[in-house]
This record gives sequence, structure tokens and C-alpha cells, in this order.
Amino acid sequence: TSARPRPLVAGNWKMNGNKLSARVFAAIIQGYDAALRSKVELLICPPATLTVTFGVVAVGSGVSVGGQDCHVKASGAHTGDVSAPQLADAGASYVIVGHSERRADHGETDAVVRAKALAARDAWLTPVVCVGETRGQREGGNALDVVRAQLAGSLPETANGDDLVVAYEPVWAIGTGLTPTPAQVAEVHAAIRAALVERYGEAGAAIRILYGGSVKPDNAFDLLSVSHVDGALVGGASLEAADFLAIADYY
Ligand code: PGA
Repeated sequence: TSARPRPLVAGNWKMNGNKLSARVFAAIIQGYDAALRSKVELLICPPATLTVTFGVVAVGSGVSVGGQDCHVKASGAHTGDVSAPQLADAGASYVIVGHSERRADHGETDAVVRAKALAARDAWLTPVVCVGETRGQREGGNALDVVRAQLAGSLPETANGDDLVVAYEPVWAIGTGLTPTPAQVAEVHAAIRAALVERYGEAGAAIRILYGGSVKPDNAFDLLSVSHVDGALVGGASLEAADFLAIADYY
């Protein structure tokens, strides 16, 4: 039996923040004291414009910086896109790929998400691969099938444990204040764990599986105490240092 992976609480700032937001990030760093550091890893994924600033502020703090998306290619004629090596150069060590907003707004397929995860790995970034069912899929009783299919199509062929993070984010829970019950979270996370172990063997037990979707300080205990929940991917509540730290303080 393997030890429980070190939990990761990640903030996804989406298209929010400007250079003044460095103050919020500094407050998160300041709150990441020895007690918290001993229990949980913190990651903030700001918009691309702030990666360099946050990367500089984060040096030596133990708080990681990540991107929210990357291109499948390392460089080239792709106007408006950001590559994984560019994120790494700016100070990122993680990148979210396949967020439901990217899948919906930019038509990203599982195959594209997998290619992005591989591009991230090539740049020594850890991909945070997002999966999750829509409300209709949940109501139709298909949540597990949808998530399994997304995993099968989106995950890299190989993983050794700390080079991959999976985030389960039910689309209907994102930004809505709605959350699955602990039993629903437990069912999906157990299915994800089984899929990871089936795919990667023993390494699959070490891969962090985050829950995301309306995580707040008030519900952190209920959601994060579920087995095979190894942390959170936090949107709205990561924009306030006190809320984000209160969620991390569950650990
Ligand atoms: P939310 O977003 O916490 O605002 O629901 C989560 C996410 O989309 O990662």
C-alpha cells in the first residue's frame, strides 16, 4: 500500500486579475506558513499576462505558479497562443489542460487535451488534466462513463506519479455554487483512481486527484475529506487570499 499523496490546493484565476493582483498573490505566500507548508502544496494559475510577475514573486516561497492552458506546439506561427516552454520560462511549473471552459469555448477534444498534456511534459511542466460531466450527463446517469472516456482519451500513455495531476470538475458545479454530495464525489474519485491504477500500475496510486467546482471555505471539509480527493482546484474562491488559505487550511 502506498502513502497518501501530498495534497495540492490549486487556484484557477481564469480571466481575472491585473498587475495589482500581485498583492493577493503576496498575501497567499505570506499565509503559507510552516504549518501549512508541512501539510499541503499550493499552486496559483494566473492569467498568462501575470505569469512572469507571479513567477518572480514566488521564488523561494514554496508556492507554485501554473498556466491555464498551453499550445500543443513549442513555438511557431500561432497568433495569440502561449506554449508550454514559454510558461516554464516565465516561472510556471504546472499547467491546467482541458478545463471545461477550454473544451466548451475552444472545441478542445480529448485528443487535443492529451497533446497539450504531452507538450507540458516536454517542457517539464506538470499537466493538470481536467475532466467532468455536464448536468445532462449526470442526470442521464452517465457521469462515470463520461469521465472514464475523457480519461481514456485525454491522459498521457505513461506517468510516474508526480508528473501528472487529474482534476474532477463536474461542469454543473463550476461557478454555480452547486456541489456534488460527498457520496457522488467519492464514487467518481474512486473510479478515477481505479482507471489510473489500471493505466499506470503502482504510479497511479501516487497521482493527485483534485476536486473542483464551487469549492469554498464552508464546504472544504465535506469535499476534501472524501477518500481519493487529494486536493482542490478552486476558481472564484482563489481570488481572495483569505478564502484560498482557509480552504488549504482544511489540511
Ligand atoms: P469555481 O471554478 O471554483 O469558481 O467553481 C472551479 C474551476 O473552474 O476550476
